[in-house]
Amino acid sequence: MAWYPANCNAFPPLNCPASKRGRARAWIAALAKLEPWAMTQLSSDLQALISTIDQDALLADTQGWSAINTGTANLDGLKDQAAALADAFSVLPGEVKLVDPAPVSAIGADGAEFEKQHGQHLTLSVRPDAERRLLFTGHMDTVFPKDSHFQDQTWLDDDTLNGPGLADMKGGIAVFLHALKAIEQSDVAEKIGYDVLINSDEETGSLASAPLIERMAQGKYAALTYEPSALPDGTLAHARGGSGNYSLTITGKSAHAGRNPQDGRNAIVAAAAIVLKLKDIQTAECPINPAKIEGGAANNVVPDHAVLRFNIRPKSPDAAQQFEAALAALIGDVQQAHEVSIHQHGGISRPPKPVDRKAQRLFDLVRDCGASLGQDIKWQSTGGVCDGNNIASCGVPVVDTMGVRGGAIHSADEFMIVSSLSERAALSALVIHRLASGEEL
Ligand SMILES: [Zn+2]
Repeated sequence: MAWYPANCNAFPPLNCPASKRGRARAWIAALAKLEPWAMTQLSSDLQALISTIDQDALLADTQGWSAINTGTANLDGLKDQAAALADAFSVLPGEVKLVDPAPVSAIGADGAEFEKQHGQHLTLSVRPDAERRLLFTGHMDTVFPKDSHFQDQTWLDDDTLNGPGLADMKGGIAVFLHALKAIEQSDVAEKIGYDVLINSDEETGSLASAPLIERMAQGKYAALTYEPSALPDGTLAHARGGSGNYSLTITGKSAHAGRNPQDGRNAIVAAAAIVLKLKDIQTAECPINPAKIEGGAANNVVPDHAVLRFNIRPKSPDAAQQFEAALAALIGDVQQAHEVSIHQHGGISRPPKPVDRKAQRLFDLVRDCGASLGQDIKWQSTGGVCDGNNIASCGVPVVDTMGVRGGAIHSADEFMIVSSLSERAALSALVIHRLASGEEL
């Protein structure tokens, strides 16, 4: 058994737990740019709680996971990542499970529907019988495919690391794992239960995990999702618009362009008519982006086939509903006027996320916990979408940008502010502690 002097700080051996705690506290204080007095504002319980957070371990986890390519279509990479996460999360109580993806279909350029493959999702359920239960979510996939040139990590300065998925969001996964580890060592752990969900398809819209998100959100008091902060200074994303993706397959009738064009029903013309009508029904509350028309035929043939793809960004549930009604009418009109048939695939997969009273209280709680750590937490609305949209639509209050500070996500310039790992883990640990201690939303 190792022996340590009563006061480790005198000559702390490298493996002395107290010296490790001291280093973690110094990290958190330095990184959160804390004045020395700020830490002393925390009760000794809370100081002890965040002192267990280990910056070196946080960084090692994040770097190890970033090194695994997990483009949403890279099923082998996702399998390796799920195994690494299952191993890491096995330190928490409860059983880690890998759950098969829900079936998802898409429309090819030829208009035929085909099945899209996805990786498994990771779940963990801890104390499911607890009266108050929370949900923690993250995603293991990134936007960088297996053959992307962006695979490596590069230090930009002492506190800034560039690499795939560091901010979005392998760093975020490390943040909540280590926050939960700290909580499990504290005496409030027994007062809460929680579920963890790490899906494999967030970057392509969570179609293969949407039913699982909905199921796991049921009965939860609050949820925290670990997307990176909206701005590198830690600003959170507040209200979010929604998003929907549509493919319309238009089937007309082919004919000779010179002999009998009057017998043809031109699918490209019908697709173009839909595009113009979509722009007519667009409102400030629901921008519409016609993105692609595929199909057509040789120059001397009236084309009988086209696929039109577009995206919408409704800002409120009302705007989403109005759009869907307008789209149904528009499709009916074009079918009649152009004598074509139109098949609709897709819809709104990310409902708009307004911030209701309970969600606002959760934001206020995060801000208050930040203040007690010397962190000035702000928020702003955004047009971006994430799993927080789906969680909020189940009526569960959620803050969905609890992950690391960073930026330039979805590009080869993606970076993570390394010190924000322990800074944000401390923030989460305090928020969870308050919720476990009976904080009402
Ligand atoms: Zn993300």
